[in-house]
Amino acid sequence: MNANFLQTPIEYLKGVGPNRANLLKSELGIHTFQDLLNLFPNRYLDRTQFYKIGQLQRTNAEVQITGKITHFKTVEQKRGKRLVATFRDDTGVMELVWFRGQKWIREQLKLNVPYVIFGKTNFYNGTFSMPHPEMELQKDHEKSLRSAMQAVYPSTEKLANSGVTNRVINTLMQELFMASKNRFSETLSESIRNSLKLLSKSEALFNIHFPTSQEKLARSQYRLKFEELFYIQLQLIRKNLVHKAKIKGYPFKEIGKNFNTFYTKHLPFELTNAQKRVVKEIRNDLGSNAQMNRLLQGDVGSGKTIVALLSILIALDNGFQACLMAPTEILSVQHYNGLVELCKPLNTSIKLLTGSTKASERRKIHESLQNGSLDVLIGTHALLEDKVKFSNLGLAIIDEQHRFGVAQRSKLWHKNEYPPHVLVMTATPIPRTLAMSVYGDLDISVIDELPPGRKDINTVHRFDANRLKVFRFIRDEISKGRQVYMVYPLIQESEALDYKDLMDGYESVVREFPQPEYQISILHGKMKPADKEFEMDRFVRGETQIMVATTVIEVGVNVPNASVMIIESAERFGLSQLHQLRGRVGRGAEQSFCILMTSHKLSADAKTRLETMTRTSDGFEIAEVDLKLRGPGDIMGTQQSGVLNLRIADIIKDSEILKIARSYAIQVLKDDPVLRKPENKTIQNTFAQLTKYKNIWNYIS
Ligand code: ADP
Ligand code: MG
Repeated sequence: MNANFLQTPIEYLKGVGPNRANLLKSELGIHTFQDLLNLFPNRYLDRTQFYKIGQLQRTNAEVQITGKITHFKTVEQKRGKRLVATFRDDTGVMELVWFRGQKWIREQLKLNVPYVIFGKTNFYNGTFSMPHPEMELQKDHEKSLRSAMQAVYPSTEKLANSGVTNRVINTLMQELFMASKNRFSETLSESIRNSLKLLSKSEALFNIHFPTSQEKLARSQYRLKFEELFYIQLQLIRKNLVHKAKIKGYPFKEIGKNFNTFYTKHLPFELTNAQKRVVKEIRNDLGSNAQMNRLLQGDVGSGKTIVALLSILIALDNGFQACLMAPTEILSVQHYNGLVELCKPLNTSIKLLTGSTKASERRKIHESLQNGSLDVLIGTHALLEDKVKFSNLGLAIIDEQHRFGVAQRSKLWHKNEYPPHVLVMTATPIPRTLAMSVYGDLDISVIDELPPGRKDINTVHRFDANRLKVFRFIRDEISKGRQVYMVYPLIQESEALDYKDLMDGYESVVREFPQPEYQISILHGKMKPADKEFEMDRFVRGETQIMVATTVIEVGVNVPNASVMIIESAERFGLSQLHQLRGRVGRGAEQSFCILMTSHKLSADAKTRLETMTRTSDGFEIAEVDLKLRGPGDIMGTQQSGVLNLRIADIIKDSEILKIARSYAIQVLKDDPVLRKPENKTIQNTFAQLTKYKNIWNYIS
């Protein structure tokens, strides 16, 4: 079928009037034949099995039974009448129940003739009953050619209440297949189909809606998932290739004095193998004629900063300026101090620009940027202001990518004639499978190795009932000279309550750890900035031993002497937050501990989170679990990507198919970058359609 047919508005389908059309549009986003065709079932009812009343179990599943109605009665209830039929087979008796449409049903149904009934059963007072069963005379059931496995489509309450039941959707789907004569254009090339032994498009579409067997269904799902993922990958990889071919970058051919002097004489430590590999990847990118667009992933503490510095030095060696942007003032200041210290032996000028930079200083910075006397600018969003103009920005580094949107990323680009090379660093590990889909248009480098000598943080889960033991442990650690964080959840919706928890917690800690022997800091979002700074400083200087805080300490706090992290109500935190919080300790030479305190009431997900935290400290592994628990929708940075809008594939469950789809997409584009070869005509056509009608993410077959 050609694309025009599929673009027909849904109201032109037999059985769809204006009312239904509006419902389908508003409830399911179905505007065209195409949209309906791509409404894939959530699950299937297996109607190949028959049950006997005598064998019914108290499960939640739908069952199919053959039997006869022997009796009807109407039962009066407070809230109205219900119609009850006695239904028998040769093994037992059950009831069929109707709350609506009783008169009609009573007239339609016949006594003592065999029916096939289908539905969910309830069990009450020793009897099974089935409310509003689907029913068919046995002789009709035998004749009907309906497939044994029945599709169940996504629905909404409004649809169901307006009579657009699953059965109606099934009927509409049948109409669509009849109108199209089940001839849908092929969308994958013959060579791919042969190589993976994929079903044809038409066969796959038919079997996804009307499966003729389990086996056909499985192959249809595979084919459609592959196709969906293939075109997303094709789009991403092509964008990347086009970008490389078209977007010229300044080639940094020189590895010169700054880099070499620093690398040979002033590196404060030997780089890990992972760091060396990543630096090499970046050097390759910078040396080519294309603009670099690279994501650097590395867990907290994996040493991304030194990689950033080495990249900056390459830019300087080639006569360009560089900038480094961080999401918060604290982080910017930390970077600034760190880089100034490291660059002392070199002759470079570095400045800091944040929201609190004074106007006079600001003017000086603007000036020196434009006349080229300033080499490196570090700061917050303030870097994006229009007044900030570089004379020749060659490299832009963004730390903690997920806090900046794509728009902000590109804003940096337009500061100069050519876009600068861009390096985006993130400590939020994104599972490879997801990264491939979300950031397929960026190249990815990973630091998957921590610097040597890091001690694993000993992580345990304790119930609130054992608090006294935990306090004793804290006392021991403090007596050894260590410092302790105690973190309380603070979640927007229940802020008042959480705040009370925090203050109660603080008071009990003060009681347990009395002055003057113990000094305690408290830090939360309601405090004035100056008070926060004061409390933070006391803790950093070691004047207080315990820091009671909300999650404000999550980002940018570095106190190596703090070796114990207590997380209160840990069941209320998400995995990535727990991981980030734990990253606050284990920064010094001492063995560090993380204690997750919870009540006894734990959901299954909470148990999994706690178990994961105590089992591993591998950020990528934790991110995988997080992704499985929450789905990609909640993972930062995925909102703009198509991962959310997948129609049939599941980014986690189908990661194997994703890998295969990606490798095929790469193969096709390597061999034929602009899809000009005759054998790729189908792919080119499909691709053009995809981009023509909609955004590619709203996948079209
Ligand atoms: P992040 O990746 O979280 O930004 P940093 O770059 O801040 O990590 O590095 C964390 C700490 O590890 C810093 O104190 C840094 O000096 C140190 N570090 C980084 N790389 C190495 C290395 N190869 N060997 C020893 N210490 C390192
Ligand atoms: Mg960092």
